[in-house]
Amino acid sequence: MTEADFSENLSPEETHSQEGQNFRECLPEGGLHRPPQPEDPDYRCCRLCPRRCGADRYQKPGFCGMGTAPVLARAALHFWEEPCISGRGGSGAVFFSGCTLRCVYCQNYRLSHQSFGKAITNQQLSDIFLRLAAEGAENINLVTPTHFLPDVIRALDRVRHRLSIPVVMNCGGYERPETIRRLSGYVDVYLPDLKYKSPALSEAYSKAPDYFQQASEAIREMVRQAGVPDLEVPPEGETLKKGVIIRHMVLPSARKDSLALLSWMKEALPEHHFLLSLMSQYTPFYRAKEFHEIDRRVTSFEYDSVLKKALELDLRGYMQERTSAQEEYTPPFDLTGVP
Ligand code: SF4
Repeated sequence: MTEADFSENLSPEETHSQEGQNFRECLPEGGLHRPPQPEDPDYRCCRLCPRRCGADRYQKPGFCGMGTAPVLARAALHFWEEPCISGRGGSGAVFFSGCTLRCVYCQNYRLSHQSFGKAITNQQLSDIFLRLAAEGAENINLVTPTHFLPDVIRALDRVRHRLSIPVVMNCGGYERPETIRRLSGYVDVYLPDLKYKSPALSEAYSKAPDYFQQASEAIREMVRQAGVPDLEVPPEGETLKKGVIIRHMVLPSARKDSLALLSWMKEALPEHHFLLSLMSQYTPFYRAKEFHEIDRRVTSFEYDSVLKKALELDLRGYMQERTSAQEEYTPPFDLTGVP
């Protein structure tokens, strides 16, 4: 297992609390809807994610909190992903607001729970992709894009013949296989979380008792689609051209669930057809303080025992240094790069 210490690139910025910021102040600039244009059936009765809440997003947001206009909080080079995603040039990270999971401990809660961001047009999204590529991005990194995938596909359709870098889908893992199949030919690298096996945990922290059932099927589809990881190594610089990296962040008091997930990966997925990114950075953000068992960082025992299991199972990929948990990975959500 390759060691990856992301801590060198950490930002001390954006640690300020948003508590006290009221809902109106957190609504995206430009509102939740787009200027008149042909109606999109995906948004009229939305079933893009496993919530399948059927929201008419022209009328009101669904569970994800988003209407019909893509809302971004940041679109800029990002150096804090796994080494093969950040590469030397940085990942072209496009942070979408809203979320289909909305975990109680989310470090990006300003986006996922509070809808911070600015509404843009589809054409502007295409332009952002081209600009990031021109700035030297190693890839276009779509961060939590599920609820805007029809727009992402349209934006990519417009410019992908001019993009020579991979497109990465970076998501919480709570996806419908049907939606992932629609991304075939558009996405080269999948970067899903695999957060929980236990329905009790996923219900408690993400209101999604079917999380593992949905995520496991979606990840199978991602692995089927992307195939064996295509990793370029130095001297060109370590970059992933296609493949799947499964991220798992060890949660406090949930060590056994982590071990069960590693066993599932070993048994259910074809050997060496994915990389594992084992993360130690859990920090009790947002509403975590309401759940005493997760209102702390993970202990060395918890993380090391999960890492030991990953090594025993020969699951290859990346680990985070334990010291990283003291740091802040969240970039400043200040509309950088959002027109
Ligand atoms: S993407 Fe949003 S509106 Fe659509 S089904 Fe999921 S939660 Fe509901």
